[in-house]
Amino acid sequence: MYDLVIAGGHVFDPGQSLDGVMDVAVSDGRIVAIGTGLAREAARVMQLTPNQYVVPGLIDAHAHVMYGAQTPGVNWQAAPPDLAGVLSGVTTVADAGTVGAWNFGIYPLYIRPQAKTRTVAFLNIGRTGILGQPLGHPDVSHPDEVDLKGTLKACAEHRDAIKGIKLRLVGPVLNDGGGEALIAKAVTAAREAGLPLMVHIGDSLSKSAAAPGLTRCLLRSLQPGDIVTHICTAHPGGVLDENRRVVPELREALDRGVLIDSASGRNNFSVDVCRRLAEQGVHPHTISTDMSTPGRRSIVFSLLECMAKFMAVGYTFEQVIRMTTTNAARLLGMSDEIGALAVGRVADITVLEVVRGAWQFRDCFGETFTGETALVPVHTVRAGELIAPEWGPHPWGWLPKAVKA
Ligand SMILES: [Zn+2]
Repeated sequence: MYDLVIAGGHVFDPGQSLDGVMDVAVSDGRIVAIGTGLAREAARVMQLTPNQYVVPGLIDAHAHVMYGAQTPGVNWQAAPPDLAGVLSGVTTVADAGTVGAWNFGIYPLYIRPQAKTRTVAFLNIGRTGILGQPLGHPDVSHPDEVDLKGTLKACAEHRDAIKGIKLRLVGPVLNDGGGEALIAKAVTAAREAGLPLMVHIGDSLSKSAAAPGLTRCLLRSLQPGDIVTHICTAHPGGVLDENRRVVPELREALDRGVLIDSASGRNNFSVDVCRRLAEQGVHPHTISTDMSTPGRRSIVFSLLECMAKFMAVGYTFEQVIRMTTTNAARLLGMSDEIGALAVGRVADITVLEVVRGAWQFRDCFGETFTGETALVPVHTVRAGELIAPEWGPHPWGWLPKAVKA
């Protein structure tokens, strides 16, 4: 007898070559069978329709969920992990450098134990993360501020949680050689910790004239498995040159195995850059939200809406599912644990519905664009537990804004 059978939905996991109406059986928090006719032996059956898709639990590889590390109404705000996670159809969320070595302590005490969502983190190379940003302070004001020893100690003590080092290439520090010194320190930290380096490009904070050159310098320093995030930014430090062509350093980095992530956020998704990259054959490995409390209300909304934006640009359903499952698991170094529907795996499963219509989206640079596909969460299963999504980020729920007739 199975604990739960998700019956009659369209099981879709391109990474496992699963594509068809099937049942998925769960017992003791794990997937125990995938096939047909399983509902007969279930304690509980979730009956779906064939237009509802059963996919591996979605993974948001770049969000901000150190909720409570900041003061609402005063400074920059992360999102509650479950709001970015299981209540939005997402089973794993990676916090991308909200905190650094000096305040990572919030995570094991207050974030991980309270979240149903599986959470992991990138540790900011800035010792207190991004907490000074509302004052216009970058994460690091001078390369000497980096606490390399503390960073390595935090990584060693939280081996299970920290999946990489995060560097944000923003602020006045980028000038006068500060940028190169900072890149060198972050690279040293990542190599010594034996972890990948994730780097935020797009200097929305100071719009430094040094940013474009620094991004090219950065790309030369990255190794296989390192990550460039905000690849679709239109701020200084993006990956297109003055003729809107992809810089050669990016192609060389991609050939070496460097990964690229989209991370929309409130500042760094340009639909024009996204299209130009695609036209030149450059496709982000992952779609992520860069979620924050204000971002959820204003422009990011949800991982599913970010995926719908990519479908509006021309990416297929299969591609956006791969980008938020198989590829995101690889980016986090967790391919053995998450990102696949397979017997024996922890039952992290997303059930979603594809809704056709005329949908309107907006990028972070004021451009609107339209798409025909919306994605809406139906159920989340996290380690076998069935969780209903909350109301949704819009006043009317989950669907994106409809194009006015
Ligand atoms: Zn971010």
